[in-house]
Amino acid sequence: MSETTTPDAGPSAGPDSQLVESRLRQLLDEHPPATSEAPEFWGAQFDLGLAWVDFPEGLGGLGLSPKLRELVDRRLREADAPMWNKRLNVIGIGMGAGTIMAHGTDEQKQRYLRPMFTTEEIWCQLFSEPGAGSDLAGLSTTAVKEGDEWVVNGQKVWTTLAHLSKWGLLVTRTDADVPKHKGLTYFIVDMEADGVDVRPLYQITGEAEFNEVYFTDVHIPDSLRLDEVGAGWSVAMTTLMNERVAIGAATVPRGSGAIGLAVRTWKEHGSADPVARDELARLWAEAEAARLTVMRASENREAGTPGPEGSTAKLAWADLNKEITAYAVELMGHEGTLMPGGYEFTRTDVDPHTGPGVEAASGASPQRAFLRARANSIEGGTSEIMKNILGERVLGLPGEPRVDKDVPWKDVPRS
Ligand SMILES: Cc1cc2nc3c(=O)[nH]c(=O)nc-3n(C[C@H](O)[C@H](O)[C@H](O)COP(=O)(O)OP(=O)(O)OC[C@H]3O[C@@H](n4cnc5c(N)ncnc54)[C@H](O)[C@@H]3O)c2cc1C
Repeated sequence: MSETTTPDAGPSAGPDSQLVESRLRQLLDEHPPATSEAPEFWGAQFDLGLAWVDFPEGLGGLGLSPKLRELVDRRLREADAPMWNKRLNVIGIGMGAGTIMAHGTDEQKQRYLRPMFTTEEIWCQLFSEPGAGSDLAGLSTTAVKEGDEWVVNGQKVWTTLAHLSKWGLLVTRTDADVPKHKGLTYFIVDMEADGVDVRPLYQITGEAEFNEVYFTDVHIPDSLRLDEVGAGWSVAMTTLMNERVAIGAATVPRGSGAIGLAVRTWKEHGSADPVARDELARLWAEAEAARLTVMRASENREAGTPGPEGSTAKLAWADLNKEITAYAVELMGHEGTLMPGGYEFTRTDVDPHTGPGVEAASGASPQRAFLRARANSIEGGTSEIMKNILGERVLGLPGEPRVDKDVPWKDVPRS
């Protein structure tokens, strides 16, 4: 498939684009966004192969190039179609789908992808632990085989959306006698199973979007394993590559997100000051350059699983988001130091019919956006780790010293 789309010229008129355009017309004719319930719209979108166009037919796709995802997104945005399923189920749609597609069985693909896309089933990612974040391969949660099941014990932390999730993407240690990367196995876990205990963690915005999750003798059928026993590291890498794209390299309309918020704040608080205007123009240009770079990378993507370009975009986006939200708060003067509504503890609610409630409402405040942006250089892999990846995989610099790489995990010193 060699069709291309460009932000300026629009889609080429090749047969693949034409098929996508015709499916889009059918979707929008049969399910007008203004009068359709969002979950019904998303179901039809999946059934017409417009959920992930590069996935096979029958599994939410049309077997076409991933470059055409951008065309679908653009047309749906133009039609004002509901697209907030990607936010409500950011981990499922943004990370789980690509992981299941790359490593799942046919039964798993048939079972999980559609309710994931329609947000009937929310997903979370159970990777980080109190003793394993950047060094994910060092994790301690164990899974022990008993007959046709695995018994899981351990603790995960910073688990976004765990309190709302039906399913989790779980990495466990199944062999402590081999080096850390080789003894991991990846499962889908039922978050409603006996022994799963989800407890909220409150953050500086006052919300509790993430949680700590305890597993005590949780039984997982072997049919919920993703890929081979011991292949968990490679499955986890697929999830993380998709995560960096989902977080930092999502294609968005011009002037949306943090820069849109900064412009609104400037109109209210800073428009008389020429220095503030110059700074806004600089940030706008940077945001636009980042947006176009992401679009170009997305449209040039040949393979299903993204490469290190996701790390570049994530790194740039984290820095820029922090800078833009700091600018907006500074424009507000003293007012910028106060959180509207105070620091009441809330939990992000999810309503597939009306969109992401609390998140959308409070996201409109520069103060909340400023505080939330602090997490951008931590979540999905820290900026230091992104730089390591870029140094090693893109620039070809020497790797970090990895002294425990060949040591059995059980012999690696831990606190
Ligand atoms: C908002 C938010 C949501 C999150 N959601 C999830 C989720 O849903 N699921 C999940 O599993 N996790 C989630 N996380 C956790 C996140 O992935 C980890 O916080 C992150 O990977 C860093 O791990 P850590 O916190 O253990 O920090 P550490 O790994 O302990 O790092 C501490 C500091 O050391 C630096 N550092 C560590 N190693 C190196 C190195 N080799 N070279 C240079 N510097 C280094 C780091 O950059 C950082 O500054 C979330 C985090 C946040 C903030």
